[in-house]
Amino acid sequence: MVAEVIVDVLNTNVDRVFDYAIPEGKEIVEGARVLVPFATKLVEGFVIATKPCSSFEGELKEIKGELDLIPALTPELIRLAVQIKNKYHVLLAEALRLFIPAEMRGGKVEQKTKNYVRISENVDLGVLTKELSRAPKQREALLYLAEHGEAPLSFLAVAFGRGAINALKERGAVCIYEQGVQRIPYKAVSGHGKSVTLTYEQNAVLQKIISNQGKSFLLHGVTGSGKTEIYIRAIKNALEQRKTAIMLVPEIGLTPQVMRRFRSEFGESVALLHSGLSAGERYDEWWRLRNGEAKVAVGARSAIFAPLENLGLIIIDEEHEQSYNSDKSPRYRTEEVARMRSMQTNATLIKGSATPLIESYYRAKSGEDILLELKDRINYVSMPEAIVVDMRNEVMRGNDSVFSEELIYRLEQTLSHGEQAMLYINRRGFSPVVMCNACGYVARCKDCDVSLTYHKEDEQLKCHYCGAKYRVLDVCPECGSAKIRQRGLGTEKVVNELQKRFPSARFLRMDADTTKNKDGHARITEAFFKGEADILVGTQMIAKGHDFANVTLVGVLDADLGLYLSDFRAAERTFSLLTQVAGRAGRAQKKGYVVLQTHTPHHPLVRLAKDYDFHSFYEHEILLREAAKYPPFGSIIRVMVVAEKEEEGIAALKELYCKLLTFKQKYEKSFVFFNKMKSPVKFIMKKYRF
Ligand code: ADP
Ligand code: ZN
Ligand code: ZN
Repeated sequence: MVAEVIVDVLNTNVDRVFDYAIPEGKEIVEGARVLVPFATKLVEGFVIATKPCSSFEGELKEIKGELDLIPALTPELIRLAVQIKNKYHVLLAEALRLFIPAEMRGGKVEQKTKNYVRISENVDLGVLTKELSRAPKQREALLYLAEHGEAPLSFLAVAFGRGAINALKERGAVCIYEQGVQRIPYKAVSGHGKSVTLTYEQNAVLQKIISNQGKSFLLHGVTGSGKTEIYIRAIKNALEQRKTAIMLVPEIGLTPQVMRRFRSEFGESVALLHSGLSAGERYDEWWRLRNGEAKVAVGARSAIFAPLENLGLIIIDEEHEQSYNSDKSPRYRTEEVARMRSMQTNATLIKGSATPLIESYYRAKSGEDILLELKDRINYVSMPEAIVVDMRNEVMRGNDSVFSEELIYRLEQTLSHGEQAMLYINRRGFSPVVMCNACGYVARCKDCDVSLTYHKEDEQLKCHYCGAKYRVLDVCPECGSAKIRQRGLGTEKVVNELQKRFPSARFLRMDADTTKNKDGHARITEAFFKGEADILVGTQMIAKGHDFANVTLVGVLDADLGLYLSDFRAAERTFSLLTQVAGRAGRAQKKGYVVLQTHTPHHPLVRLAKDYDFHSFYEHEILLREAAKYPPFGSIIRVMVVAEKEEEGIAALKELYCKLLTFKQKYEKSFVFFNKMKSPVKFIMKKYRF
């Protein structure tokens, strides 16, 4: 027998099938990873097919060995890899790599056993939990173990922190032991998660999903409308039919809360694919999916490649999140891959969001996906009351600070009731817009109707669409004020200012700095969730799907900044952010407030966001998109030249431009805009970009 092998070498010259002989008496099948002689050394490769004989003239080299006990890939995954190769113009080896954990390559990890944790014998739980009253993580981990008997170390480390488990071990409270193939299955306590009765709306949605196996859905449900509960029931339904499921969550949404929820619902049949796991843990979780022990994969975008057979359901939660697009090679859109996969396997696809992408909603409206809507929050809890504050009035009143009087008043109220507040600072983009603090004037390009961006390095304002340059403003052209703001604010500054006003309040900060560590985001949300701080100040990261029952105030310091970013998605992203941030307040029975500070209180988007009116927003936005031929009515294609030497880049750019120009002449009518220019970020890591 002969195997068709793709060698795991990233080089266009070897991006093709090589035939190798399967050694006599060995059974090597499609999907196996093998070791083969290639050029002068041994390399890893993927068997993508087998056949009785080869049309190759010379003598075939033999496969030297198999790398895994069972084939790593299934025929379905190989087909998907081929589709990905064709769609995204990557090497097949590159596409295949997406399907296995990086640590599996080169035999970096090999772990056929797994570490488990249980409470040591002769431990007096009552005494110990008292002793641990000042170590809440350890205490919770212990209580969890008391309830569940034992649990995988990988899970406990994510849920409670590796430090807590190590500390418990040092105390002698728990022991960690290895279990091989014959380990006792981890006992999930069923009914641990409070079991709820679906609302009428939820039930209608669920029934529609269940009775349309293999179809694709868009679930549009306001924040707090119980989408997660629907996902869980849909997964249960898939499992009842002996099928498997993939649940995708934005990386940042993979909080301990979410993971605990899924563990308690599905016990050991769920595998968590999370960047916070160690290489060995990820490897273990991956193999549990591959060998069928786990049937539900929960993870960030790469979990779409989970090695599940008999797939019945794919869920993409918070489908509007940008993190679903891979921005490094191999670039792919998770939704497209999910569609390919669901087509191949006849799996149901559900995308869910409180603020779907305009394109997604358009698609659903035109009948390509089935549109499901949840209009009410659970228990009819009302959305928080939004108060729009005109910051221009604050300046007129002599209030120069970034906090309006309204916001300070609401903060006082919240703190005095022992409730929590979240303050959101809009700092998307690498450089903020230029705005007059007195009148709200924003510097814009004359030709493009987008805002200008301040460039510190050459002290200029620039248009990111046409490249036009403008002088930096000293005074506002509209009102003559010198209160021009070029720079955004940082979370640190906001916290410092607030500390002066509320000296006894406890603060937490969440931004790129404080979340540098892998579990930084989870740690901070967990601390806030437990009430370890009164006010959380953060960037867009704080907006993501957490259920904070005690948060009754959300303040948005600069609600309009995002509106002017030079991107056709700016309005959509701003609307989505405002809605998501606001959705954090008033989740339980307490009334919530959202204070939107803005310089443009009459902007249609601020008004629509205040009323949580997605439908009107959509109607408004889709007309603009159509008029400008933006997606979904057109495609934007970026051709990027990256070069080490600037002149070489320019030369290559010119050559490409000429070639594309002839193409354009042929399809003149299809082109809306076509130009060559420098990238907004002119160089990255010493490479010039055009
Ligand atoms: P979403 O994902 O749409 O923002 P969640 O799924 O987080 O909303 O639900 C919001 C809250 O309502 C959660 O605390 C959840 O446990 C609760 N919940 C969901 N469905 C029900 C129900 N049918 N009855 C009671 N509570 C529910
Ligand atoms: Zn002005
Ligand atoms: Zn311009």
